[in-house]
Amino acid sequence: MIAKLGQRFNAAGIGSAARVLLRDRSLMLPHVHVPDISWIDWRALKERGFAGVVFDKDNTLTAPYVATVWPTLGESLEECRKCFGENVALLSNSAAGLYQFDPAGVEADALEKSLGISVIRHGSKKPAGNADALKKRFGCDASLLVMVGDRHLTDVVYGNKNGLLTISTEPLTLKGEPFIVTRVRRFEDAMLRRWKSSGLKPPPHSLHTTEFDFIKDPGCW
Ligand SMILES: [Mg+2]
Repeated sequence: MIAKLGQRFNAAGIGSAARVLLRDRSLMLPHVHVPDISWIDWRALKERGFAGVVFDKDNTLTAPYVATVWPTLGESLEECRKCFGENVALLSNSAAGLYQFDPAGVEADALEKSLGISVIRHGSKKPAGNADALKKRFGCDASLLVMVGDRHLTDVVYGNKNGLLTISTEPLTLKGEPFIVTRVRRFEDAMLRRWKSSGLKPPPHSLHTTEFDFIKDPGCW
């Protein structure tokens, strides 16, 4: 029980989030926002020069605490794999891959088998931490990678502060999500709406031009 609470409590994340709210609000804004990953044009990303994709897990690829891909997203994930080959990986704030909670990599191994994507082993929860584990895994500069995730205060802030292109998704389901995460998510949404309407933009990225980049049929939603 204590271990589970430890896994869910993200002290570094709370500290980092506080800094964002006080100083670097633009870090919370994604370069692109889509309803879910099936809207992402993987080929366009590859053609623009991106070399790899880093996915969040819970509520981006799977339901929270579930080890199988959300049923309607399998095809898009396969397209992503076809475009980027081995350069597709998972960076999760769940126990899998975190040295603190999964030191032998048992959960990461199981997740790799279940999802068919490699799980990056790392030392801190997003948004804390630098991009060293990514550079080691992908062998390229972090600016050539795309971070895809459903949480602005974790996935987007982590990606933006480390120079990745950031794509945010709507959560797949609120069922099974911890109460505190749902409350923080509402807070994030309210802040984002306010900041966007005041004209705030995400940090500049050399391979990004508009918020409609890399979206299939952007006029459809
Ligand atoms: Mg998530």
